[in-house]
Amino acid sequence: MTSFSFTIEAQCSESWARAGTIHTAHGSVQTPIFMPVGTQATVKSVSPEELREVGAAIILANTYHLMLRPGYQLIADFGGLHQFMHWDGPILTDSGGFQVFSLGHLRKLSEEGVTFKSHLDGSAHMLTPENVMQIEFELGADIILPLDICAAYPCTFDAAKEAMERTHRWAERALIAREGYQSKQTLFGIVQGACEPELRQQSARFIGNLPFPGLSIGGLSVGEPKAEMWDLLKYVTPELPKGKPRHLLGVGSPEDLVIGVGLGMDMFDCVLPTRVARHGGLFSRFGRINIKSARYRAEHAAIEEGCDCYTCRNYSAAYVHHLARTDEQLYYRLGTIHNLRFMLRLAGQLRAAVIGGTYPAFRDDFLKQYTPASEQVRENQREKWKAARSR
Ligand SMILES: [Zn+2]
Repeated sequence: MTSFSFTIEAQCSESWARAGTIHTAHGSVQTPIFMPVGTQATVKSVSPEELREVGAAIILANTYHLMLRPGYQLIADFGGLHQFMHWDGPILTDSGGFQVFSLGHLRKLSEEGVTFKSHLDGSAHMLTPENVMQIEFELGADIILPLDICAAYPCTFDAAKEAMERTHRWAERALIAREGYQSKQTLFGIVQGACEPELRQQSARFIGNLPFPGLSIGGLSVGEPKAEMWDLLKYVTPELPKGKPRHLLGVGSPEDLVIGVGLGMDMFDCVLPTRVARHGGLFSRFGRINIKSARYRAEHAAIEEGCDCYTCRNYSAAYVHHLARTDEQLYYRLGTIHNLRFMLRLAGQLRAAVIGGTYPAFRDDFLKQYTPASEQVRENQREKWKAARSR
């Protein structure tokens, strides 16, 4: 039924990095890949044609947001997400679980599912492993995810274990529910286990052994230090079946991509590149620059020398700086295009390095010259996460 397959073309001999190809009903995706996030069935400020031009091969859309607005029935009436948003390439939808736990109000968690009130209008909703399969079936993405529970950070071992075990039971229910739909969609499993190495291993083994054609690693990048996230992956990857693609959910700064590939990850998604772009943060090989900074006021050169994106090919940094400072609409488009192209070019470079047998050198060179955003920025993100969870 499904037209999904994954082949591995090359593997690094000194790390867990690999280069592969995912086939879906809407086209192929060469990995490692970065997936731009189109929360509301749109990657903010760019058109599908522009996404193609930056090299996007697959995009992600958020079930939680779309089920609340405009409603999955309406999208189904238009023939599904591909037709509704005019994107004919592969799409991945998440289950909505992560947003329920981070955005939803007054949720109640039971074995059956999770009830929450919409962050938009306070209306009550319930997600179960079964109705999430129906909602995602109606949305029609190529890759879909089952309802899972993302434990709070930090949390006790017992809370982490309980969330993981329920996630496992829900995964089995999702697989059964999935059989009721005649579709070409592919259901990935989600590995949980919070920040407990032992649980992470256990979850990777359990989910890896279920008949999911691909695996997402969830519950990371929720506020824990990055070093801890990488350590946890060292426990997860060896337990996963080698032949299935691995998706690191919600992770995707440039350095994350470079490091994550070496830890065996194939797919990444994150709102970060597009979100920081809208706030003036643009990527360069040396780190993130602030285009609003006065140093770009009269800069004749492009944002980044040698960047092949539409923005850098046609505009000076001074012009982009001017647009950003005056809050012009065009800035959002030009800034987003640059950051997305940076991420997709980086994914392509990582793939070429794995195939060429030079991944470890590429990683070391990249990390040597790239300065990541400060820990303070991450601390602010952590605070936001905590605030959202305590409401
Ligand atoms: Zn550029």
